[in-house]
Amino acid sequence: MVLLCGGWGFFAHKKINELAVYTLPVKMSVFYKSNIEYIREAAVNPDRRRYAVVDEAPRHFIDLDVYGDSAVYKLPRYWQDAVNKYGEDSLKKHGIVPWHIYRVYNQLKEAFLLKDPERILRLSADLGHYVADAHVPLHTTQNYDGQLTGQIGIHGFWESRLPELFFDDYDFFVGKAEYLANVQLAAWQILIQSHQAVDSVLSFERELAALHENNKYNFETKGKQTVKVFSESYSKHYHEKLDGMVERQFRASVKMTGNIWFTAWVDAGQPDLKSLINYKPSEEELAKRKQELLLWKERNITTREHESTENHPH
Ligand SMILES: [Zn+2]
Repeated sequence: MVLLCGGWGFFAHKKINELAVYTLPVKMSVFYKSNIEYIREAAVNPDRRRYAVVDEAPRHFIDLDVYGDSAVYKLPRYWQDAVNKYGEDSLKKHGIVPWHIYRVYNQLKEAFLLKDPERILRLSADLGHYVADAHVPLHTTQNYDGQLTGQIGIHGFWESRLPELFFDDYDFFVGKAEYLANVQLAAWQILIQSHQAVDSVLSFERELAALHENNKYNFETKGKQTVKVFSESYSKHYHEKLDGMVERQFRASVKMTGNIWFTAWVDAGQPDLKSLINYKPSEEELAKRKQELLLWKERNITTREHESTENHPH
């Protein structure tokens, strides 16, 4: 799958990350707010990396329909199980976003354990991007730009043109971040909802196209360029037919980004973030902490094995 502009437009990605900061409890938001400029701007880094980093592209989508009917309910929830069943190459070919969200959540949790401010910010920004991409219905199908149904351009229509025109009417209040009992399953829940919407995204546009053949496009001047765009009236018809879907997915992206940041922080034992504002740990300090984290992990695994042998002696 090759996308010219992936995921939400840059504007929406930045806005999602920024708004997610306001879902956080004060103990977290002091740190995030003092770095809000970075959180917002870095929201688009994963898209910028796509052409430089070989493994980047598959992290933004999953072509669920290549796996057959009801794949979104049936695919292995955890990466290792999926690799055992399909192999890594094949998975990467069709996109890995639900598993990658969980991977970055784990990395973020470790960054909190390490109390590494740079890492926390970088991974938080990345995570917001992948979570937002997973909320775009056309990121869950191989017909990602309507190219299989004669609807080329629908990708940008849904995720860039509609938000650009109707953004001012969106309601941004999404409430407080909530703890997720299982981040991997929550990631799949996003995909279930997004994928359910694919049919409406495509069929509504098809119905409209049949009715509005003549006023579907018009020309807009952007700087020195004249570009063909979906006309405002056509966009409005689509917007109304979708009945708030783009706004719903946008808001859900904000909320889920906040939820996962919050969950990673809680799962790392709620480290004090206030002390990380304006603080840069030295290289040696970080190396030492990484060593400590490794030891802590080893100890944890040994304890767990020990417990399970006690519970199930065999
Ligand atoms: Zn993306």
